[in-house]
Amino acid sequence: MNIIFLGAPGAGKGTQADNVSTELNIPSISTGVMLREAVADKTVMGLKAKEYMDKGALVPDDVVISIIKERLVKPDCKNGFILDGFPRTVPQAEYLEKSGVVIDLVIDIDVPDEKIIERMSGRRVCPDCGASYHVVYKPSKKGDMCDKCGKGKLIVRNDDKPEVVLSRLQTYHEQTKPLKDFYAKKGILKTVIGQEEVADTTNLTFEVIKNFKNS
Ligand code: ADP
Ligand code: ZN
Repeated sequence: MNIIFLGAPGAGKGTQADNVSTELNIPSISTGVMLREAVADKTVMGLKAKEYMDKGALVPDDVVISIIKERLVKPDCKNGFILDGFPRTVPQAEYLEKSGVVIDLVIDIDVPDEKIIERMSGRRVCPDCGASYHVVYKPSKKGDMCDKCGKGKLIVRNDDKPEVVLSRLQTYHEQTKPLKDFYAKKGILKTVIGQEEVADTTNLTFEVIKNFKNS
């Protein structure tokens, strides 16, 4: 089964993508995580991407498309995959279509802008393994250390700074939201209303997947 998670930055796509990945035993592929890895490794592509990311803009389509192209041919994708943060523009979605990548289900996690702004201020990431936390909604069991890899000290992402969050939201409304229509027209879009409690959003997400499988 091939699934796309859509939603504003900070809507909780990554968390739900990881839950579904564990449940269905298929990889969760995040272009954001891959880009941050490239930034940390200071590759040529990473250095270029960083300029866009730090401003809250999207990295150019050709760059993310080449990352995704390489990733989707890996053997672990053959039984299905979850895309978290890709596609983010109509040309990226058209790329998938042109390449013959079949998407079964698109889950849009819907969270109002005010909530997004509040959430992003509490978001923390592990610079070592990329794990994502929230000081209130999803705290690390080890305080300001990462409980996934056990060695990273959690930090605020550069692009989670308040000024940048606003431009990311604007970018989302202008460039990513049109994808809802794109997939609704194909009849594969399902909306999950983001809940106060992560576990409640997870239950709604699993329900959507169960309904899909039974249909
Ligand atoms: P969030 O979903 O919280 O915005 P991500 O980790 O998915 O965070 O993305 C972080 C940044 O990486 C984005 O703001 C953007 O600059 C870049 N990025 C990630 N995925 C894409 C994509 N598919 N197309 C263009 N830029 C992307
Ligand atoms: Zn870690």
